[in-house]
Amino acid sequence: PPVAVICVGMAGSGKTTFMQRINAHLHEKHQQSPTTTAPPYVLNLDPAVRSVPFDSNIDIRDSVNYKEVMKQYNLGPNGGILTSLNLFSTKIDQVMGILEKRCLPQPPPSQEQQTISPKPLPTHILLDTPGQIEVFVWSASGSILLSSLASSFPTVLAYIIDTPRTTANTSTFMSNMLYAISILYKTRLPMILVFNKTDVKGEEEAVEWMRDFEAFQAALRKEEEDAMGGEGGAGGGGYMGSLLNSMSLVLEEFYNALSVVGVSAMTGEGVEGFFEAVEGKREEFEREYGPELQRRK
Ligand code: GDP
Ligand code: MG
Repeated sequence: PPVAVICVGMAGSGKTTFMQRINAHLHEKHQQSPTTTAPPYVLNLDPAVRSVPFDSNIDIRDSVNYKEVMKQYNLGPNGGILTSLNLFSTKIDQVMGILEKRCLPQPPPSQEQQTISPKPLPTHILLDTPGQIEVFVWSASGSILLSSLASSFPTVLAYIIDTPRTTANTSTFMSNMLYAISILYKTRLPMILVFNKTDVKGEEEAVEWMRDFEAFQAALRKEEEDAMGGEGGAGGGGYMGSLLNSMSLVLEEFYNALSVVGVSAMTGEGVEGFFEAVEGKREEFEREYGPELQRRK
């Protein structure tokens, strides 16, 4: 079966641009061998996006009108997104029906047709999620969508990170990583950390901060020293410093559980590496998550 790749991440991390990139990559693959692979099956779950820069097979905006939802229920932007997702999730059976029909091998309808070779199936299902990550990850409808997908397809989360912003200082980095950890534990799905925008700043520093807590602590010390020189800024010593110190040990464990890749959604750099990581996580899903889901079913 195809693997479902769900792009999550903070608003502005580059989810939509990344989706566009991997979608284009898979379309190219399809064009190289049109008889064996189909293009990816693409879903847009962001009800508030104005224009989607890729063709999607299922678009939440086709079934719910976010602006109307806001008006009708007298909601702000976040409430509007949440309610739109809730409305969409009431149709999850239909959505899963379509996905299974399009993405899983179908029994031939009649005897004669058995001689026709089966249509190639997509190798990937791609999902873009709302900019407001918490609305998707922490809502009941988000959980319904994720667990429905994962009960039919190997499912992998791609946590997209704005590398230049996230590595600007150790506390921003740590909060973003803790967010990723919380999503990992909430969803219990295999996760790939995608350090995006490597055309602006490479992922090496971030990877070193995760892998080697001494490197992280050295960066933290340096920030503290710099802050002392000035006004004794926000990152400064005391409770914050020792919290960050202890958490860097947690991060090392986390790092071991994940795949980490650097990409530029803008230039396409690193996309091959991302798909290798997806294959690794697909195997992990089938080995560890699949049997667990079968038990729960
Ligand atoms: P989303 O909110 O997570 O869907 O993020 P978008 O895909 O809309 O991207 C947010 C901003 O980051 C846009 O201005 C993009 O052009 C920019 N962006 C996305 N990926 C990259 C990248 O790889 N490199 C650079 N330099 N900018 C990027
Ligand atoms: Mg987006």
